[in-house]
Order: sequence, then C-alpha cells, then structure tokens
Amino acid sequence: MSKEMYLKIARPQNACVKCGAPLAEAGKHPSAIFSASNPVVEESEDDEGVLRQDFCPVCWDEVRSTDYFSFWLARREKPRPRKIQNRRERNTTLLSYFDFLYQQGNPDNAQHLYFLAHLLMKFSVFKWVRTEPGPGDGAPSRVVFRNTATDDFVTVDEVAMDEERLVTIKREVDEYLSRAGGEAKPAEQE
Ligand SMILES: [Zn+2]
Repeated sequence: MSKEMYLKIARPQNACVKCGAPLAEAGKHPSAIFSASNPVVEESEDDEGVLRQDFCPVCWDEVRSTDYFSFWLARREKPRPRKIQNRRERNTTLLSYFDFLYQQGNPDNAQHLYFLAHLLMKFSVFKWVRTEPGPGDGAPSRVVFRNTATDDFVTVDEVAMDEERLVTIKREVDEYLSRAGGEAKPAEQE
C-alpha cells in the first residue's frame, strides 16, 4: 500500500458503520479497507483511494464476503470510566489544597491539615508512616505520611478534631472541590 493511501485511512470509528453499535467499548472489532469507489456502506462522495470501515461482529459476518483490500481485528483500549477520572481529579485537587495550607505553615490550619491528610490517606494518596512525639514539652504528637506518588514525607500535628470545626472544614473542602470543577464529593461517596 502506498504511503498516500495509508495516510488516507481514517482513525477507527466509535460505532459500527452499518448498524451504529458502539465499538470503542468492545475491546476489539473487525475493521476492513475497501476501495472508496466500492464501500460496503456509502460514507462520502469521495470515491478516490481507499476507505477504512469498522464493524460490529454481526455486521461483519454479513459483509465479509464482499470485496475488501485487507481485514484485521482492531484492538481498542477501553475508554476509562468517567468515575476513575473523577477520582484522579479529586485527588489532585485535594492534594493541591493540602500543599497550599501546608506551605503556609499557619498553626490555625492544624485541623484542616489533619483532616485533609486523613482524607488523602483514605484515597490512597498518602500512606501513614508513623506517629512521633512532638518536638518539645506539651507539643502535640506528629503524624508522618508518605505521598505514594512522589515518596515525599509530610508531617502534620496530631490534633483533636473539634466537631463543629470538622463540619465547617468538610463543607469548605466540598466547596473547594466543586469550585475546582470536580464532580466527586470527598469522604461520603466511598
Ligand atoms: Zn453492526
């Protein structure tokens, strides 16, 4: 096959050219190259060169005896379920929220950081490493987490969560996530 002909071959379609059955989810499906002047299903006026057409197995059975240049089973990567993308986006958003507060180093954020770190641990972004004594007399114990993607360690003060504060923090996190465009809500949905 000449290079020009090769370049004219379209990307795989997401639906069977004959019956419209979805193909991208199927994992693999028959594809064939026809002379554009003699396709199984008329797709355009252009009858120069070649035409790639994709079929569901049922329709392929009906057209397999027609004239085609070549035939193969196209392998398709299954589209990622939207839910998994949402989780990834949510995790990225939560982590950047955590990093933002963490770098501020403001002691008023201790409950925020403690809450966010545990939420990130729940979503497997952080892994608990150890709890260690605070740096001096009366200083709160500290919890060390490891970021499972970067292997960085973060240390947050162990704080008693004030229940009223917790409600406020959860609402803030929800709002932060929805402002960031994430559809997923933290905590409650998993
Ligand atoms: Zn079909």
